[in-house]
Amino acid sequence: MSAFPEEWLNELLSKTDIVRIVSEYVSLSPKGGRYWACCPFHNEKTPSFSVIPEKQMYYCFGCHAGGGVIHFVMEAERVGFVDAVKLLAQKAGMELPDEINDERLKAERAYKERLFAACKEAARFYNKKLLSEEGKHAQQYLTKRGIGGKMAMRFGLGYAPEGWRNLIEHLKARGFSEKEIVDAGLAIRSKKEKGGVYDAYRDRLIFPIISASGRVMGFGARTMKKDEEPKYINTGDTPIYNKRNNLYALNMQKGRRVGELIMVEGYMDVISLFNAGIETAVASLGTAMTAQQARLIKRYADRIYLCYDGDNAGQAATLRGLGILASAGIEAKVIVIPGGMDPDDYVKKFGKQGFLQLRDSALSANGFMLESMAKEFDLKTTDGREAFAKKACRFVGGLQPVEQERYAPVIARKTGLSEDVVKAQCGLSASGIENMPAKNRNTMSKVRQKAEDGWDAAELTILSLMLIDASTAAYTAELMAENGIELKNEAIRAAAETLLIKYAEDSAANTAIIISEMPMEQAEAVGAAQTAVERMGGDAKKIAEDCVNKLLKEKLSEQYSLMFVKAQALSGEEQRQCLIKADEIAKKLRLLR
Ligand SMILES: [Zn+2]
Repeated sequence: MSAFPEEWLNELLSKTDIVRIVSEYVSLSPKGGRYWACCPFHNEKTPSFSVIPEKQMYYCFGCHAGGGVIHFVMEAERVGFVDAVKLLAQKAGMELPDEINDERLKAERAYKERLFAACKEAARFYNKKLLSEEGKHAQQYLTKRGIGGKMAMRFGLGYAPEGWRNLIEHLKARGFSEKEIVDAGLAIRSKKEKGGVYDAYRDRLIFPIISASGRVMGFGARTMKKDEEPKYINTGDTPIYNKRNNLYALNMQKGRRVGELIMVEGYMDVISLFNAGIETAVASLGTAMTAQQARLIKRYADRIYLCYDGDNAGQAATLRGLGILASAGIEAKVIVIPGGMDPDDYVKKFGKQGFLQLRDSALSANGFMLESMAKEFDLKTTDGREAFAKKACRFVGGLQPVEQERYAPVIARKTGLSEDVVKAQCGLSASGIENMPAKNRNTMSKVRQKAEDGWDAAELTILSLMLIDASTAAYTAELMAENGIELKNEAIRAAAETLLIKYAEDSAANTAIIISEMPMEQAEAVGAAQTAVERMGGDAKKIAEDCVNKLLKEKLSEQYSLMFVKAQALSGEEQRQCLIKADEIAKKLRLLR
């Protein structure tokens, strides 16, 4: 990923001290071999952010942000790798290397600049059309939806006129080639007519999609005709735009860190909330929430409110979003809009105050899970209430005791059972859960648990062993291969692979430098693992053996319960074979204990 020569980067890192760089942002105090401060990336009152001078790394025990000095600058300044390196070079008084002269890189960058320029010119074109006679009906449409000229200007809205080559001709007259126009996603190559190219958007309202740093990189286009499908057309992936890595209207925060963001489904919902004076709305860009978007949110806000439509699709998107946010360690709440309204309808009817009241009564992730569970049952009947009570108690029984205390009354209220009965049932369910194979446990509480612990302890230990030195890493990797153990956490696995590859190239490789060049997620995993190294005493080989043993046990128990479940669904000879296999796995397991 590095655009800089390794030698040069090594020199830069040797001249850079992470403690000095971090001190420019927060005030550090030394304690136990580390430096501590309140985290600059999440709100806190007691310090859980630490810098490890020996490894030139930082790690936050609260939000799990972590990495080398380059990652720190990337997060603190909200810039990319290249800009972070440039900034550090400036501080270290080093000239930038020849990478600027690398022809291929230079050409690639120049081409991207052309695409950005084409998008910018297209946004201007669409905006002018909106204000012209041709765009009259689009203007009327906006007025009808309560969006005035000022708001339309603020979001740079536009109108793509009827016809097949309006934008193409406009851009060609300004020196853009057809290839550039197509690559920027502004036009489409005809499948029927060879060499034919036509405008991507025709007779549609245009929403420019602007990067966090303020550059137009794509467009969303809405039809204004009733029943026309699709309602929205969005720019697909281009060299300068990827919908999974971006959020609509994040540019409105102008790079500032905000306490909270409100995530809604569509462009119109965002604009409508801004229109009402709620200026923290963002939307995903025609996708369900992605892990990349969750990380982006984490850079900007401590808390996110999900505010999707009340229909089934909206509910499913909420559940999925909660899972992704929990894994990223972000506090999420759910704003439930009553009466099947969408945010746009609601804020128009009840105004800013009404919407903020709704936000203040938002449900926690678990509260939302309980509510959506209740919808599966008919609570008017005894059978329905009983079935719901059983399922809900099983769920709540798997939560932390404080949360059980909070949700038991909710179940009691919905079912008419006494709180004591509900609590007893929750307790029963909890002990029942312990006896179940881990796989069948409630996934949500598992995801949450993971976010709380940050990472799986055994996998983290494996990674921390690999951080010690090349020979310990090789020993651990071999042991895992012998036992057919693979790391499940993507970031941990990728970081371990990176370390192994670098050690293979140079067994004395400097881990601080390897870490500095890792993508953010991997660096975070390494940050967590480094903490485990410090806690770890004793013989590294012995620890590796214990750890691989533990993972092997987990793998075998999982296979065992799978085989057992499979056997239950079979009969006769097939069932017998399955049970024999289960028995063999059980024998192996006993040998390990
Ligand atoms: Zn933090």
